[in-house]
Amino acid sequence: MDLFEYQARDLFAKHGVPVLDGEVIEKAEDAAAIAERFGGRAVVKAQVKVGGRGKAGGVKLAADPADAVAKAGAILGMDIKGHTVHKVMLAQTADIKEEYYVSFLLDRANRTFLAMASKEGGVEIEVVAEENPEALAKIAVDANEGCTEAKAREIVEAAKFPAEIADQVVNVLQKLWTVFIKEDATLVEVNPLVKTGDGTIIALDGKVSLDENADFRQPEHEALVDHAAANPLEAAAKAKGLNYVKLDGEVGIIGNGAGLVMSTLDVVAYAGENHGGVKPANFLDIGGGASAEVMANGLEIILGDADVKSVFVNVFGGITACDAVANGIVQALELLESKGEAVTKPLVVRLDGNNAELGRKILTDRNHPLVQQVDTMDGAADRAAELANAK
Ligand code: GDP
Ligand code: MN
Repeated sequence: MDLFEYQARDLFAKHGVPVLDGEVIEKAEDAAAIAERFGGRAVVKAQVKVGGRGKAGGVKLAADPADAVAKAGAILGMDIKGHTVHKVMLAQTADIKEEYYVSFLLDRANRTFLAMASKEGGVEIEVVAEENPEALAKIAVDANEGCTEAKAREIVEAAKFPAEIADQVVNVLQKLWTVFIKEDATLVEVNPLVKTGDGTIIALDGKVSLDENADFRQPEHEALVDHAAANPLEAAAKAKGLNYVKLDGEVGIIGNGAGLVMSTLDVVAYAGENHGGVKPANFLDIGGGASAEVMANGLEIILGDADVKSVFVNVFGGITACDAVANGIVQALELLESKGEAVTKPLVVRLDGNNAELGRKILTDRNHPLVQQVDTMDGAADRAAELANAK
């Protein structure tokens, strides 16, 4: 889960990373009192979960409280790269002398944590990495050792930060590492980390991504979720404990096992090329123990998606054999009918693996008018794509 800048700022403050005072508002007129409190001047910053706000006009300096109201009014409602601005942060102004970049992230490819640092901050770091790669230091951080003082010094030296600020940056890096570990983040990034006129180092903009797999031990993170922005289908699926991701296509997908579902998405997208370019409408993994209730929950979510024109149920029987899954499908259809949500879209079912024959017979005997079976994955994908394109 990506956080808003103001939420990142709060986590930085909580763990001792130096930040400036800031406050979030949703109504422009509230900017006056805050700017007043900051001594008149303030920076007005759009709160959207996308980079490059500055360049897009989402970061503006206000000279006095009235100007802060005007600037907040101009930024609220603005569209930045497809994100509408609903909140702005009023922050204390900084007398910026230099802008740097520091981050910690999970380096999946190298199975380690990685620190990145550069003297050339304030611009998009992807641009620095592309045009001036030697200006971006990359140092692996061992998960068990963490960012010790020695490691922080290694990062500072690799990035060639000026000697007079080295101690401060070492401190910031260690505090930032605390945020990274204590909050179970997969990314903490400061861009820019600034040196002010009096030589102080401050984190002026922060980006934090939290690892949702750690939610069970981070009860406070629930309060950081942006419920307003959540896709309603994804929210409903989450409430039912389903592994569901909404996509753009027309073919609803249910499968058991993340790997099988991932390859189902590929096969359906490929089949769709012969059928008007239809695509998978979602990812949904109902897991190993595909009970009738889980199947019904999954179907309910998928059939509730107005974009869905057909559904492909792709199951490989393992520990839960195909006959149990077939019974689950039959019961799910009845369960939905009894709830007044009878299935109205065609279902293509492919059963393979443990007890496939028995599972297929159960569905054949049930003879539901909207359910058809295809025995191969490619064949079923093609049929589901064809049906999605027919409507
Ligand atoms: P981003 O464009 O989304 O990364 O937003 P940032 O928060 O990083 O702001 C973009 C740029 O605005 C920074 O690199 C600074 O140059 C400038 N900026 C941000 N806050 C201040 C401030 O308090 N004072 C001054 N003078 N400039 C600021
Ligand atoms: Mn920035």
